Amino acid sequence: MSKNFKVGIDYGGTKIEGILMDNEGNEILRKRSTYEKNYKSGIQTVSSLVEEFDKHTGTINSVGVGIPGSSSKETGLIKNANSIWLNDKPFKQDLENSLGRDIRLMNDANCFALSESIDGSGRGYDSVWGVIIGSGFGGSFVYKNQVIEGVNQVAGDWGHQPLPYPNEEEQELGLECEVGNCHRPLCAEQFISGVGFTKLFNLKYGTNFRTREIVALEANGDERAKKEFDLYEDRFARLIAIMIGIIDPDVIILGGGMSNIGRIYKNIPKILPKYTFSDKVRNKILRNTHGDSSGVRGAAWLWDSDKF
Ligand SMILES: [Zn+2]
Repeated sequence: MSKNFKVGIDYGGTKIEGILMDNEGNEILRKRSTYEKNYKSGIQTVSSLVEEFDKHTGTINSVGVGIPGSSSKETGLIKNANSIWLNDKPFKQDLENSLGRDIRLMNDANCFALSESIDGSGRGYDSVWGVIIGSGFGGSFVYKNQVIEGVNQVAGDWGHQPLPYPNEEEQELGLECEVGNCHRPLCAEQFISGVGFTKLFNLKYGTNFRTREIVALEANGDERAKKEFDLYEDRFARLIAIMIGIIDPDVIILGGGMSNIGRIYKNIPKILPKYTFSDKVRNKILRNTHGDSSGVRGAAWLWDSDKF
């Protein structure tokens, strides 16, 4: 396989994006394709993107693919994908047959953390905990540029654990998480994801705002929005403190829509000492560098990430 270039694929629910990258992380080509929401169309779309990149370089390139969900180490079948046509399918094997080479497959949140660790905000640090706060809420852990998947392939992914130190108001909400088999009372995703935050706000104030409207309200000094963001940061700090107590990462890098809210980087570090068992909180909370591109970049870095 080519030692000079690598291909990364981000397999999304409606689009499949591909990147051709050189070994220094420079983007050579990027392509995006829509596909029919079925298994066969996905395989064909990934294959034709890869063929196009191979043709461009005149070589057989390494291929890494980021997917929603994960490819079970036990059975080789996909599980927990919200692109449901992938579930229970031997996607890795079918793609390898179609492409005529070994490929590497990884959960897309892990690709985010890997991308940021290698040449993003986590560059130069040993341990990177990537946290995605978008429509959902989850995390992944990278140590020395290697994804730590864990025996259940859920390492670092604590988004569906209960919110720690719940106050009376939080307990009385009686939220029930409907994602997968969660159903946990006080499930953190219900408080921290963009969807959850906005739902709670509207429930509390009898409004019908979208997330970006609440952000705008806060910027204009609205007392309700200010209060809810204060609460949001406190909740997030409680959750981060728990993970610091377990893996104590050098850096915590935020991605997803809610990571664009500037005030959280200033305020959460001020709250963390209240909940963290340490003389001082040295963990850095950083905004991502590559944004939406981390999916494809991290997938491409699934090959040779140990060389950095
Ligand atoms: Zn949940």
